[in-house]
Amino acid sequence: MKTLIFATGNAHKAYEVRKMLEGLDVEVLTLHEAGLDLNIVEDGTTFRENSLIKARAVFAASGKAVLADDSGIEIDAFGGAPGVYSSRFMGEDTPYPVKCAAILERMKDVPDEERGADFRCVMSFIYPDENGNATEFVEEGAVYGRIAYAPAGENGFGYDPVFYLPELGKTTAELSDEEKNALSHRGRALEAVKPHIIRWITE
Ligand code: IMP
Repeated sequence: MKTLIFATGNAHKAYEVRKMLEGLDVEVLTLHEAGLDLNIVEDGTTFRENSLIKARAVFAASGKAVLADDSGIEIDAFGGAPGVYSSRFMGEDTPYPVKCAAILERMKDVPDEERGADFRCVMSFIYPDENGNATEFVEEGAVYGRIAYAPAGENGFGYDPVFYLPELGKTTAELSDEEKNALSHRGRALEAVKPHIIRWITE
């Protein structure tokens, strides 16, 4: 069985990605499980840059196959913010219920048609060829929705309780794991990366 390091410290993301790769002949390790304690500075200005920064740093440190995602929420009424700064919005240590409440408060008078938002994810996959050189793939996924009027749901993480999908009448925090993975930005980005992972596993 091959080993793939998922370059994240976020347990929720690791849970989602493990579920999506279930059934493949690959063991997914988080940074912690791989014994890596890296200080990676995510100073890119796009999801793509940050995703590659993470993947390349972990590949350089381990020489092993790596998957890294960078993701966030883009809110139309805020000109696309917080975007790549989603986890740093209002401070890294501010609890998400507080961040979500602040967004709802700032948007309380914004009408339906201006409440558009998306979750976006760029997933990078790097594996070593027979000489140890990096082969890189980068794929993107997005899901479009709206900012809810009130938080709802207990599943997921981060901004899920305020990200509303009008066609389902639910926030992403009200979806089951399977439902969220089937339509989420991370699910879509990983679906696009999966053929590369399968090729690497079977080569
Ligand atoms: P990253 O770890 O730098 O990619 O930070 C991404 C941040 O975007 C997370 O900490 C969340 O705040 C937000 N985010 C990304 N994906 C999701 C999701 O699926 N649900 C809710 N929030 C998300």
